[in-house]
Amino acid sequence: MTEIRVRFAPSPTGPLHIGGVRTALYNYLFAKKHQGTFILRIEDTDQTRYVPGAEEYIQQSLKWLGLNPDEGFGVGGPFGPYKQSERRDIYLEYAEKLVAGGHAYYAFDTPDELESWRKDMEAQGVHSPKYDQSTRRNLKNSLTLPEAEVRQMVADGKPYVVRLKVPEGETVVFEDIIRGNVQFETAELDDKVMLKADGLPTYHLANIIDDHLMKITHVIRGEEWLSSTAHHVLLYRAFDWEDEIPQFAHLPLILKPSGKGKLSKRDGAQFGFPVFPLEWYAEEENESYLGFREFGFLPDAALNFLALLGWSPGDDQEIMPLDELAKLFSLEKIVKSGARFDIEKAKWFNQQYILSKKSEKLLPYFLEVIPEKEISETRALEIIELLKPRITLLPDFLKESRFIFERPEVYEQKMLEKKWNAVNREAMIKVNGQIRNAATFGDDVFESEIKGFIDENKFGLGNILPLLRVCMSGSSQGPDVFRMMAILGKEELIQRLDAAFKAFDDIIKA
Ligand code: GLU
Repeated sequence: MTEIRVRFAPSPTGPLHIGGVRTALYNYLFAKKHQGTFILRIEDTDQTRYVPGAEEYIQQSLKWLGLNPDEGFGVGGPFGPYKQSERRDIYLEYAEKLVAGGHAYYAFDTPDELESWRKDMEAQGVHSPKYDQSTRRNLKNSLTLPEAEVRQMVADGKPYVVRLKVPEGETVVFEDIIRGNVQFETAELDDKVMLKADGLPTYHLANIIDDHLMKITHVIRGEEWLSSTAHHVLLYRAFDWEDEIPQFAHLPLILKPSGKGKLSKRDGAQFGFPVFPLEWYAEEENESYLGFREFGFLPDAALNFLALLGWSPGDDQEIMPLDELAKLFSLEKIVKSGARFDIEKAKWFNQQYILSKKSEKLLPYFLEVIPEKEISETRALEIIELLKPRITLLPDFLKESRFIFERPEVYEQKMLEKKWNAVNREAMIKVNGQIRNAATFGDDVFESEIKGFIDENKFGLGNILPLLRVCMSGSSQGPDVFRMMAILGKEELIQRLDAAFKAFDDIIKA
């Protein structure tokens, strides 16, 4: 059996969009499932769209997510370099081969000439004219110019591009693992530029050559590349590599939360959710976009969420860490239709992952968000344990732990209006006394003693417990009252009770 080799081949034209992350993830999962090789290749042949920092961003994102390449850019391997701008000579050589074999030709039309040609055609009623089999005979290229003139022009250094000579009257057929049998008529295909005037290849040429030389077995990428695949198949044929053509799998789009149209970074900004893995500063807009990391997602939760955008193991199973996903993954179970991005679902995953994580693992995230820097590890772990069930995004630790580090300054007025009456006030004073004199503090014995006392005196747990919580944090919402007491400690608790009673009296009198 041939070894599975897949590549993630982003262009460093900006930050990695969440759709790109999913492409990387599916490639990674497929490689792991088959003990194959996951390769990172940087496709930077379009120098006009190059964005500084994008390569590092891609690497950092993959690192944060734990999608580490086995081979490729930044890692090395036997088929390097893995950055296309460093492979210029290879592409040049193959472009020449295409021309020599009659599969491509030199085209000398300048951009201005092409522009005025297009205008003329449009004036004649041709809608978006293309450089293709129907028009190439009327343009300035090595198919129409005498050979000697072509040679002279090349020798004189006249700028030219190399275009693919798409064969006439054929149907290009290929199998896509997700989409099945796909067909394109060559009459619909333009003579795409393979080598640009600057001597750099276009995406199409470089992509095919690299996939071949790097022995890629499966091309897993976004659906926007489906229509280019016809040209790619023609290229494999032209190079006589047809027997080694990789298998294709074109992934469905990730759709806006409304389900209408492709998810964009604007949606993220508009609705307040991340569409990038890490924070990205967009220089041209002087705007920063927070990523999944800064929103407080755990990388494994983000991956689990993304994995299910367009794929499922075939049953209802949802929580699957990376190694589990790799075991279950298959390209055949990817759907054709677009997958709706649902941030609430992403949050749900995060909550589940936080809940199931050992507190030790959450410690670094906790320490990062809380203001208190002088805290012992034992204490921090106790707090995490208490708050974990209440955390959706990691920064929630800040909000949820505030009552531990700060005494309340305001108390929930509505609750007091309802509950701080003469009867409950008397009861609370007695409960306070009982807490002070209890034999133990903060354990189960303490809890049953206090609850027993409230019951015996018919004070009503439904009255006393919410009031105790408001005394401690100012809010009637929060973790279990007895665990809150334990985390505060007896001395702090008593001080808060005394202060709260005074404040309650003032609030209610006012
Ligand atoms: N460089 C292309 C991109 O940025 C890769 C497409 C492919 O995987 O073939 O999406």
